[in-house]
Amino acid sequence: MFPSKTQIEAIIVELQKIMRLQDWDIKLSYLSAVEMYRDTGDISTIADCLRSRPHHLATIKMCYEADKTSNVVGNWYLTLVHEMFHILIDEFDYATEFKVDHDDYSLPKERLVCNLARMFVKLYPEKNFDSILNNQDNECKTE
Ligand SMILES: [Zn+2]
Repeated sequence: MFPSKTQIEAIIVELQKIMRLQDWDIKLSYLSAVEMYRDTGDISTIADCLRSRPHHLATIKMCYEADKTSNVVGNWYLTLVHEMFHILIDEFDYATEFKVDHDDYSLPKERLVCNLARMFVKLYPEKNFDSILNNQDNECKTE
């Protein structure tokens, strides 16, 4: 089951402490498949992260219906950690923005983020957030 918006927001706060990202203001945009498609124009996008380094503002977009629209195995936690790593390495994006060809940088960067996220999830699995995930709130749950 996909966690509620409130649960993911609470986990983002905990991940910010672990990843030393407390100086970022990270918002969660919790989107249906239709909303994500309208937003990105890509039916296969399950998550995205917008960042403004000068202001330390980020918006993580997550599709809570990702398992319906993507053939990517729906692992919400790995996806969230992946987007958090994009924030963590944002400084490199900023530093290299005008110096290298986009694909020469973005493909290895995406591989790095994927590997870092997989490693993190293995070392710090989802069960560390059981207290948040088992805490029932009154929000509408997704199916
Ligand atoms: Zn990515």
